[in-house]
Amino acid sequence: MLISDGLGDRPIPEFGGKTPLEYAHKPTIDALCAQGCAGLVHPYQAGARCGTDWGHLCLFGYNPEQYYTGRGSIEAASAGIVLREGDVAFRGNFATVDEGLTVIDRRAGRISEPEDILLLLSCIDGMEIDGCKFIVKPLTEHRLALVMRGRDLYGEIKDTDPGTAQEGAVVKNPVIGCSGQERRTAELLWKFLQETHKCWQNHPVNNARIQKGLLPANFILTRGSGVAMVLPPFQTKFPGVKVACVAGDATIIGISQMCGFDGYTQQDFTGSFETNYLGKAALAQKLLEDYDLVIVHVKATDLCGHDNLPDKKASVVEEIDKMFKYWVNNTDPNSTYFVMTADHSTPCRFREHSADPVPTFFYGPDVRTDSVAFYGERSCALGILNNYTGAQLMATIMDYLGFAEKYGA
Ligand SMILES: [Zn+2]
Repeated sequence: MLISDGLGDRPIPEFGGKTPLEYAHKPTIDALCAQGCAGLVHPYQAGARCGTDWGHLCLFGYNPEQYYTGRGSIEAASAGIVLREGDVAFRGNFATVDEGLTVIDRRAGRISEPEDILLLLSCIDGMEIDGCKFIVKPLTEHRLALVMRGRDLYGEIKDTDPGTAQEGAVVKNPVIGCSGQERRTAELLWKFLQETHKCWQNHPVNNARIQKGLLPANFILTRGSGVAMVLPPFQTKFPGVKVACVAGDATIIGISQMCGFDGYTQQDFTGSFETNYLGKAALAQKLLEDYDLVIVHVKATDLCGHDNLPDKKASVVEEIDKMFKYWVNNTDPNSTYFVMTADHSTPCRFREHSADPVPTFFYGPDVRTDSVAFYGERSCALGILNNYTGAQLMATIMDYLGFAEKYGA
């Protein structure tokens, strides 16, 4: 199952009104689409714009409305933290503040030196205050994930981050104006942030940074807190199925693991344009020996949409076509199913995620066929899967693989 992030698009005038997907040369994908069924799928529901996290949860068969508790949990999962019931997760930034806690730089000069980051985190990760444990793990550049683990913690703690472009403002004390369980949790967090500040203030890493003319990272700004998002394993709904996910993007690996999938990544799977497409294909191929379903994520189509690069988006689709060619040449078509879909559309001219449904095809030896002979936004609208939701698509795949349970007797 290949998920091409943000694949769906709208007509591009330079392409004579074709979309990047319609414009791309992709003989293998078109052949699979012609021999299988297709449709424009609503990852969540018609008219809904999805973020990548929301869209993937939908494709994996979950209703995010029931489970989603904010970005904090997603970032924690991306950072490799396995969340437990009762944890509270935050998004965080390394920041530079002065003695009066006035914010000098919200991103500590976009600190990105891995050795500095690891040394700074090593003196605070795992700290315990009054029976509450603080877990802190790095994300890309100045970003980090912070999780509080303890008894009776309150989920919605006010942001300490004064916000974007608020340099010159003082860090916000989350304790002010709250009471009860919220107050106790905010006090614990505030104590931890003070301890962190104390520990980092004269830390050798920061002294060296100052000498080099770099900003010291001497505070953590927090935002977007929420109780941990804990999902029932995918196997609760589809007993016995083994699922793997191959991706370069940490968010996708994190969400996959939250769902009970095994995540696989390697250095040259970048979540960017220059990812190792055929390396992903080869790994997926190998994993099929041990897993019933292997999900492969390609991020670059979404990046092209955000940057308004329709030519590049078409060329990424052509790279994906080579992945399918590799699979078709190396698997038994009589026992292998192929799916291609997306978590949302990211039209180039819109440069953001849109609510447009996503082109999808499903090929397999015994899959019902329809009249769709070409994989594109226009043609897919005539297919059997048209207007399916992401969860219905997954249920259909599970039915073909023999893991769907029957309703009634
Ligand atoms: Zn996305």
